Amino acid sequence: MSPEIIQTRADLTKIISKHLKLEEGRRILKGNCPFHADSTDSFMVSPAKNIFKCFGCGKEGGPIEFVMAIESKSYDEAVTSLVLEFGV
Ligand SMILES: [Zn+2]
Repeated sequence: MSPEIIQTRADLTKIISKHLKLEEGRRILKGNCPFHADSTDSFMVSPAKNIFKCFGCGKEGGPIEFVMAIESKSYDEAVTSLVLEFGV
């Protein structure tokens, strides 16, 4: 399974929502970044592009990068867990 397909098909909003509360926006969802001490909703998620970005610590990426960072997984482990979860 190619990483490119996972990056576009694994639902990033759903993955992130398991770890933090996201507030609905018009085009982006916002929340407190799980990767640094944040109380100002620096963490943005774009459901349309399936990417996240934190304007506080600069962390960004797609489903693979998020799972790697939040679950301390290697690239291959993150890909495997996303394939298992989403069957993409
Ligand atoms: Zn951050």
